[in-house]
Amino acid sequence: MAPGQDAVTGADAVPTPLARRLIRRIAAEGPMTVADYMAACLLDARDGYYTNRDPFGAQGDFITAPDISQMFGELLGLWLAQSWIDQGAPADFVLAELGPGRGTLMADALRATRSVPGFHAAARVVLVEASGKLRDLQKQTLDGHPAGWVADVSALPQEPPLFLLANEFLDALPIRQFLRDGDGWRERMVTVANDALCFALGPVVPRPELAARLADTTQGDMVERSAAAEALGEAIGRRLARTGGSALFIDYGAGLSLGDSFQALRGHRRDGPLDHPGLADLTAHVDFGAFGAAARRGGAQVWGPLEQGVFLERLGIGPRAQKLAETATGPARKNIIAAQRRLTHPAEMGSLFKTVVLTPSHSPAPPVFQFQDD
Ligand code: SAH
Repeated sequence: MAPGQDAVTGADAVPTPLARRLIRRIAAEGPMTVADYMAACLLDARDGYYTNRDPFGAQGDFITAPDISQMFGELLGLWLAQSWIDQGAPADFVLAELGPGRGTLMADALRATRSVPGFHAAARVVLVEASGKLRDLQKQTLDGHPAGWVADVSALPQEPPLFLLANEFLDALPIRQFLRDGDGWRERMVTVANDALCFALGPVVPRPELAARLADTTQGDMVERSAAAEALGEAIGRRLARTGGSALFIDYGAGLSLGDSFQALRGHRRDGPLDHPGLADLTAHVDFGAFGAAARRGGAQVWGPLEQGVFLERLGIGPRAQKLAETATGPARKNIIAAQRRLTHPAEMGSLFKTVVLTPSHSPAPPVFQFQDD
């Protein structure tokens, strides 16, 4: 394999411990897919990014919606409780979150739903988290609230209805990248040149699974596929069809993947995805079209994607912010207004982030998806 036109050698790359191990692995086994590289960087048992650290907040690498404002988790919690009521308030259900990070979203959702009659008594809270370090943090944040932890959705309790939240989880699932060449595709791989990691393009091969993308792409376009995200969509779809429930996913992305969205963040700055393996967060934009199609294959109905800003406004973030601001003073008051803007304004998180909801098929439209133009 020859280095491709987009080969990048990280000139100022620090050879992290994980980089050294990956370089040895590639020398022994050959180039890796971007997906295998991403999985190793994020969750390697020894040196993975999430394995060892708390990456969130001002001191960390990035900040997410639940840590911008308590309003986010409160509104999502109330939304979920409403979905539970709309499905007959089952007396036993699984209240799950995927990739809860610090646990802020679940803690805010639980606080906001305390006054919903029967909701807490019926809920079995289960957090799906691969990182032991983050599980410990989540336990602290939940402050004694009963909860269980599993590493994968397949280990969730199987029988009860499932009501699930996931914010910025899908973007952490590994993707593969393919560059259009004629009617075939060259896969972008991670390999080694001059003792450093670099990208290279594999040979041109026909890819029947990308046949539909020949219609909307031209020579040199890149498309991304996440087998993990599609498997998850299908599994949750199947589960909801079988047991009932509802799943809310919020993430950045679009209806169809196009272009290279593989990105690294370190200390709130863009980083080269190959520059600091294990020390930088790696993500990709979510292909909501592929995710939704997989969920439909599993038997679910798919609502959205709807912009996060519109979703939160329809849930009443405006009045909620006003209420909080009434009792706050000085900088706290300013922060509430700024947080509302950051979460909803199209120039901030409002448009890039999208909401997708999965329900059993033939369910009525969930709250806020009842508008004609959605
Ligand atoms: N939802 C949180 C954190 C998002 S970061 C927030 O909004 O702040 C991604 C989270 O998903 C982290 O908790 C990370 O450890 C977890 N994670 C990433 N890949 C995972 C996987 N394959 N299985 C389980 N958890 C995973």
